[in-house]
Amino acid sequence: MHNAVLRTLGPLGVPAVVLVAAWLLLPHAAAMPEGVRTWMPWGVLLLGAMLAAAFSRGRVFFALCTLALAYLGARQWMTGGLASWPARTVYTAMCVFVPVNLTLFAIFRERGIFNGHGGNKALLIALQVIVVAWIGLERQAVPLELVAQPFLPAWLAGGTPIPHAGLVLLALAFAVVLAKALLSRSPIDISVAGALYAFGAAADAAARPDAFATFLLAAALILTIGLLQDSYRMAFRDELTGLPSRRALGERMLGLGRRFAIAMVDVDHFKKFNDTYGHDVGDQVLRMVAAKIREVGGGGRPYRYGGEEFTIVFPRQSLEEVLPHLEALRTSIEDYRMAIRSPDRPKRTRTGKRRRASTGKAPREVSVTVSIGAAHHTERLDTPEKVIKSADKALYRAKKAGRNRVAR
Ligand code: GH3
Ligand code: MG
Ligand code: MG
Repeated sequence: MHNAVLRTLGPLGVPAVVLVAAWLLLPHAAAMPEGVRTWMPWGVLLLGAMLAAAFSRGRVFFALCTLALAYLGARQWMTGGLASWPARTVYTAMCVFVPVNLTLFAIFRERGIFNGHGGNKALLIALQVIVVAWIGLERQAVPLELVAQPFLPAWLAGGTPIPHAGLVLLALAFAVVLAKALLSRSPIDISVAGALYAFGAAADAAARPDAFATFLLAAALILTIGLLQDSYRMAFRDELTGLPSRRALGERMLGLGRRFAIAMVDVDHFKKFNDTYGHDVGDQVLRMVAAKIREVGGGGRPYRYGGEEFTIVFPRQSLEEVLPHLEALRTSIEDYRMAIRSPDRPKRTRTGKRRRASTGKAPREVSVTVSIGAAHHTERLDTPEKVIKSADKALYRAKKAGRNRVAR
């Protein structure tokens, strides 16, 4: 439970730290040389966009583009306050378009930059620029008045220059993106939520160019760090199960001391299982097995070794100490019944319920077992590689002896 809360909230740490740093920096921002203060956001926006381009991360790239345009508009027209016509136009537009764009980019799937999907995003941004230019140059008061129309009570929206429509959009956008981020736990989704919050703070402080620049810098920084975290995760996390990958295991093994145990876990008859229920159900089972392995006791650190094989590293543990935990893991997987959707099951739940009620068919359940081989560091097995090899041999013995058991 504690672990689950930490795993959910932990990733929020980076945006939180950057935002707090921005607040702490705020009183000193005005004292900074003008050049440094105004150019820092450009530097981070550019750095982030270059990294996003190098990693082919369209969602972050176009989110940064949106922020860059907002910053450009603010630098060009808002430095003298928000009262002038162009300042009001640009400010109102960013309060609407930034939350809309960032939410769209957070919801869309990642599809790169230099292709049709990226082109559509660029087109959306270009259209918004054209609309802003049209309102600004042609002095189109109607759309501006429409957006600027106040409708929220003063106790809720008093004291901020953000138009009420923008306020509602920002709140909605933040709620949607944060909900998605907490579900996916993807660093990029989390960073977009953080960037939305930072942009809200920037817009709220828009009358002060130094504060606006500071929070915009924070937004760009949060997105850029999210991008880096996401790349780290891609390299060291297995996508299907969310467990650290074999590459992470390789690095962990270099840091092990002289006392540790290693277990190799392999799903029994998994090929047959896949053939019977299909690859999708197989994937679902692998996720379930991974979730169980994650809960193993004895301080075991799980990794996906590859395919349907997992490795658990127990630092500072002997074989005798970890065997009961492995046995508990084995039975917890054996006892678990996983409900699966039968292929003919209707998508709509109503029809599904009716159909189940009429045929009396319960949803199908499946279960799997695992075999586990374990070994620990000894005089003879004096490297992690040798311990793994020995655990693999033990696994083979567990299979030979009839599967669904732990062997040493
Ligand atoms: P044993 O009890 O001896 O381990 O038999 P097994 O069938 O589990 O062993 P084998 O190594 O022959 O087959 C492993 C199968 O695991 C092959 C492949 O179909 C399946 N598999 C590997 N990776 C994945 C994956 O990512 N998703 C799914 N659905 N299946 C996978
Ligand atoms: Mg295998
Ligand atoms: Mg297997």
